[in-house]
Amino acid sequence: MFIETHGCQMNVHDSEKALSLLRPMGFAETDDPSTADLILLNTCSVREKASEKVFHRVRALRLLTEQRDPVVGVLGCVAQSEAEQIFERAPSVRLVVGPQALDGLPDLVSQLDRGFDRAIDLRQDNRPDFVAVDDRSRRAGLVAFVTIIEGCNKNCSYCIVPYTRGRERSRPIDSVVEEVRRLGEAGYREVHLLGQNVNSYASWVERASGRRFEENAFPELLARVARESGVSRIKYTTSHPRDFSEKIVQVMDDNPELCDWIHLPVQSGSNRTLKRMFRGYTRERYLELVGAIRGARRDYSLTSDVIVGFPGESDDDFEETLDLVREVEFDALYTFNYSPRPHTPAADWGDDVPPQVKRERFDQLLELQGEIQIRRAGRYLGVVCEVLVDGRSARSDTDLTGHSTGNAVVNFPAADGVVPGAVVAVRITSVKAHSLYGEFVKLLSSPVVNS
Ligand code: SF4
Repeated sequence: MFIETHGCQMNVHDSEKALSLLRPMGFAETDDPSTADLILLNTCSVREKASEKVFHRVRALRLLTEQRDPVVGVLGCVAQSEAEQIFERAPSVRLVVGPQALDGLPDLVSQLDRGFDRAIDLRQDNRPDFVAVDDRSRRAGLVAFVTIIEGCNKNCSYCIVPYTRGRERSRPIDSVVEEVRRLGEAGYREVHLLGQNVNSYASWVERASGRRFEENAFPELLARVARESGVSRIKYTTSHPRDFSEKIVQVMDDNPELCDWIHLPVQSGSNRTLKRMFRGYTRERYLELVGAIRGARRDYSLTSDVIVGFPGESDDDFEETLDLVREVEFDALYTFNYSPRPHTPAADWGDDVPPQVKRERFDQLLELQGEIQIRRAGRYLGVVCEVLVDGRSARSDTDLTGHSTGNAVVNFPAADGVVPGAVVAVRITSVKAHSLYGEFVKLLSSPVVNS
């Protein structure tokens, strides 16, 4: 079985779930599609022309496998949004599975085995169950992903996720804590708690007054995972400024196991645009949250996302975004050019910012952020960072690469006894916009497994 994953960490984790579901049927993973009996494309609709790219990839993979006749399947958001049309446009595809129907994958593959020509499952019944992942199917090596909430109730006007992944379903708090604890015992050094909007995590929690259901249980979850799991590096994505709170910062301050990185997508600095995006917060509230983060006891790395060229975005609106970026000084910023997505309200509003204007705004933002980023990174000069070693640096045979608790890439000269999975102290000696460089100080801990 060959599986190719596009998109975010949620999709990477969904591919791990697909592997976990198919292994008991006798499938083994290969990284060579030309030898595979089953080829799965796990797709993402966030980027422009996502479905075109999927059809292009299906054709390319079919050319590679001309000598065989593998089952080709499409999973993920494009499967949900294009549905049966996929069979028409790409006749070699025999399997289509939406994100909420992933647990049906083994049954669908069995149907094809039994001679069915095609199989499709696009259920959107918002079931609360979560597919368990076996450790052999995890892909992130020393970092493990754990889904805490599926789906999204926010309905941002540009986003297809509520359509493809459905309403929010949170996983019980005890089951999350238990999985993270088990991953720690299995040797994973870092765990990422995942969800489209982790801040709206809800669960039954124990209180002095008794057990009760809380809509806003994310701080509680963070505190329990930090204190009870035994894992010393815990990160989470993605946050939403409407549900993010000062309480979360406080819990992070109190628990050093919660890494010093916060990704808080702002999307625009203009209240007019935020309103049309249905984001549910104002620029002022966002800056208040940034104030809480900057005023915290620990030094957090703060990163964000911005969409440029949203329908109706004027020069003034964009200026307000530039202004906010200048004021906040993010440690990293992921900028996207707006393009309409099917099944979203904004798709009906016209894509009225000309491509040339979008490009200019994108470049302007990139240039501004580039200056800010290098200046911000400068505060790490001389600082000793805790780095989880990922492996050899792609740029130098003599260097190792890893990532800090603040999610920065850190390169440093290889040292005796330092292997992937080790956690080391590195003193930063120089900075670039997208990485830090330093000298090895000492080994903090050796890998337990997965080296
Ligand atoms: S919060 Fe908005 S952008 Fe994020 S997944 Fe939900 S609808 Fe999409």
